Amino acid sequence: MEPLRYELHCHSCASPCGDDSMTPVMLCGMAALAGIQLLALTDHNTAANLPAAEEACAAYGLTLLPGIEVTTEEEIHLLCYFPTVEAAQAMGTLLYEYLPDIPCEPDFFGNQLVMDSDDNIIDRPEKLLINATALDLARTKVLAEQLGGLCVPAHLDKDSTSVLSVLGIMPEELDFPCVEFRDPAKVQRFVELGALPPPREVLTSSDAHRIEALGEAGGIMEHPEESFLWPLIRRRLELQGS
Ligand SMILES: [Zn+2]
Ligand SMILES: [Zn+2]
Repeated sequence: MEPLRYELHCHSCASPCGDDSMTPVMLCGMAALAGIQLLALTDHNTAANLPAAEEACAAYGLTLLPGIEVTTEEEIHLLCYFPTVEAAQAMGTLLYEYLPDIPCEPDFFGNQLVMDSDDNIIDRPEKLLINATALDLARTKVLAEQLGGLCVPAHLDKDSTSVLSVLGIMPEELDFPCVEFRDPAKVQRFVELGALPPPREVLTSSDAHRIEALGEAGGIMEHPEESFLWPLIRRRLELQGS
């Protein structure tokens, strides 16, 4: 298979910290302009904008990989990718139950806008989606995998909300062959420090919360069929073709 340009970590206007202009339609349109072929929308603890993103991706000729960036009980960000929007929505429903009963104050945290594929606001989730869920890292991984998902620890080189910033070391009992780094040049340092077993694959995405940042750091999979995420990517390509 040909190399694949990807953006596997970005936020829409459903995330309180995501810009209101990051509607699924805008996001997918701008991703297409940036030359991205495989796009994962990974809002904080919600799959609410994935149905609109799936439609928009189809319209722009992109492949959507449905995703969610979960905040675990330890305040760790874990990227979870799913074979279908429905599977991601099932995870989203579960996560909402495990979020604390704290409402989103838009003036303070930002809006949480759920959109349809015509850019209309159709919902505003009540609970603040950026909070930590009551699910720990191991349990989150198990639940995502039960739904056919695959997990990638987010931004391991970030000084907060990453496995390494919170726990100091990658837990040995959790197998994450694929990890995300903002700067892949830093991987070796963490491996040498003994904080991280050598990963099989390192992904780099933008974690864009604003349109301008989209595709800035997206990477290229030289051999998509060798990727840890290939079972999901293949499924998405098949679904798209049908
Ligand atoms: Zn994050
Ligand atoms: Zn993020």
